[in-house]
Amino acid sequence: MDFSQLNKASAQSFNEQKALLKKLSKGQTVLCQHCEQPIQLDLTAAKGTKGSAHCAKGCTHIELDLM
Ligand SMILES: [Zn+2]
Repeated sequence: MDFSQLNKASAQSFNEQKALLKKLSKGQTVLCQHCEQPIQLDLTAAKGTKGSAHCAKGCTHIELDLM
């Protein structure tokens, strides 16, 4: 197992998620890379302090840690 590759990949996607959330929080439209549907920021269904960002089909689903 090559964990350095794994860590690199997850760090990259973490940065991508951060960039995506930044756009969403500014009210910009971001399309899902998979189904090309707009990704919606969903804070209303938050459990505790968590919300999520997801597309209509659910192939993009990002859990949010709200500070
Ligand atoms: Zn999608």
